[in-house]
Amino acid sequence: MIQVTFLGTGAATPSVARGVAALAMQREGEVLLFDCGEGTQRQMMRYGTGFTLEDVFVTHYHADHILGIPGLLRTMGLMARTRPIHLWGPKGAARTLGELVTLGMERPKFPVEIHELHPGDVVARGDYEIQVGAAEHKGPCLAYALVEHERLGRFDPERARALGIPEGPLWGRIHRGEAVTAPDGRVVDPGELVGPARPGRRVVYSGDTAPCDSVMRLAAGADLLVHEATFGDDERDRAIETRHSTAREAAELARDAGVRELALTHISNRYSREAPELLLEAQVLFPATTIARDGLVIEVGFPDAN
Ligand SMILES: [Zn+2]
Ligand SMILES: [Zn+2]
Repeated sequence: MIQVTFLGTGAATPSVARGVAALAMQREGEVLLFDCGEGTQRQMMRYGTGFTLEDVFVTHYHADHILGIPGLLRTMGLMARTRPIHLWGPKGAARTLGELVTLGMERPKFPVEIHELHPGDVVARGDYEIQVGAAEHKGPCLAYALVEHERLGRFDPERARALGIPEGPLWGRIHRGEAVTAPDGRVVDPGELVGPARPGRRVVYSGDTAPCDSVMRLAAGADLLVHEATFGDDERDRAIETRHSTAREAAELARDAGVRELALTHISNRYSREAPELLLEAQVLFPATTIARDGLVIEVGFPDAN
């Protein structure tokens, strides 16, 4: 499972109903944080994501996406952390994130590595990668996709036994695409026992953005798209002026990008916790839409349930 936990789903300032932008993605015991608005560390305690994370990916440098970083680092320091943490952000990372790291206090005693990213960059990891796309907002802004590598095709153990290939190392070799020789001398081609490779999952986070092609490309075929929807139809002019999206625009983009599921976040304080009007406006175009609220967890399985 990839588990996505919404730590803050509000826009601009925290409200009683919503904290500001932060999202945790948990996968195979690893926690990745995307944006870190004010109060994020408390939300991480409340919603049980833990503090074992090594990476914070920041979409842009508006206060509602970064002010939680000093507090988070401070808490990590008090927990006697020694492992490094990596802060990733768009152009200007060294200066802006650097200022947050040293803000009015002693430097953390653990290493803080700051990395600047640009649209098109790929952060390589073991069996997945983080793809970086451009978002369209004020100043340099990024969107991120967690993309798993393709998985091996399905192995057919019944058929392997029927062909007389004993369970053991030969199974592994043939699964990885090697032709092997069965005990009777016959050469067995992997195509006989292994199905086609299966795609990994793609989870995309837009950050703050007006609807744009680059986020659409990043989101193509995503299993889950987390897209901002700061406003509804009633505030369409304001969305254009402030370079945000409406729920309807996010839904249209999700539909055109062929995503499986859409979660809307970064909701303006003018809407209630459930934001029924935004939900309605989005679901007309894209029924598989959820309005995120703080603490919502979405589990992203494989499309073929394997
Ligand atoms: Zn924002
Ligand atoms: Zn912003």
